[in-house]
Amino acid sequence: MPWRARRSREQPLEPAGDDTLFEKSITEGQSVKATLTVLGSGTSMGVPTLGCDCAVCHSSDPHDRRTRPSIMLEYAGKVVLIDTSPDFYIQAIREKITRVDAVLYTHTHADHILGIDDLRPLSYAHKPKRLPLYARPDAAAFLRRMFSYIFDADYKYGGLPHLELRPIDGPVELFGAQFEPVRLIHGEAEIYGFRFGSAAYLTDHSEIPEASFHQLEGLDILFLDALRHKPHPTHSTVENSLRIIERVKAKRGFFTHICHDLPHEATNATLPKHVRLAYDGLKLEFDI
Ligand SMILES: [Zn+2]
Ligand SMILES: [Zn+2]
Ligand SMILES: [Zn+2]
Repeated sequence: MPWRARRSREQPLEPAGDDTLFEKSITEGQSVKATLTVLGSGTSMGVPTLGCDCAVCHSSDPHDRRTRPSIMLEYAGKVVLIDTSPDFYIQAIREKITRVDAVLYTHTHADHILGIDDLRPLSYAHKPKRLPLYARPDAAAFLRRMFSYIFDADYKYGGLPHLELRPIDGPVELFGAQFEPVRLIHGEAEIYGFRFGSAAYLTDHSEIPEASFHQLEGLDILFLDALRHKPHPTHSTVENSLRIIERVKAKRGFFTHICHDLPHEATNATLPKHVRLAYDGLKLEFDI
């Protein structure tokens, strides 16, 4: 059976601010326009990579400057992030982010979580509540340990982000849109990608389990890990991700988590027209 977005008229979780716009915009079965912004399209070390002399690291093409991987979704007056990279501060300045209503985490590698503390000023809008962070139960436990100063109620200093961890092991509805975890294999770990409306964001995978493919039917937009051409134990390649797009027949494919092996223009010239390398600042419209 094809994957179908489920909608509900339930109250959004933990609304921050005025939800009038949202309440009017969502009706049963009606899709809502959303904008996806690529905050970062680079691999864990970023491009340029520190100390590297290669041509891509010295490229004058702004598309070859890749901060660490993350995306932003805007719909119904809300802002949802997937991951907060070590570059979140500079990404938020660049994209003029003035609010964040929820964050979903794919996994707990440093390149996906180290921007957490920079949520601090944006988390204050949620007082007296807290900005919700959604993650797999094991990832939520890791975040609680790693950032114990944030989540430890006995921590005595001020100036803490107002955050709340919410472990999820299934779909979660955020402001009228359904986010479904898509289980991925990332080296030896199982992590989450996410399907939301007509789009899916699957970063950091060496393999997509057969059981996850039914969630990738009928996609308008599919983001996939494509580190480079050469095989890697924990990441997908351009060739492997092209096969995945072909298999699921996504209308538009975008590659992310890109390393300095792939020059933007030259690589795009080798790809089918409906598949492109993502780049920092790329904005896409879709139905959520
Ligand atoms: Zn990563
Ligand atoms: Zn390089
Ligand atoms: Zn990773």
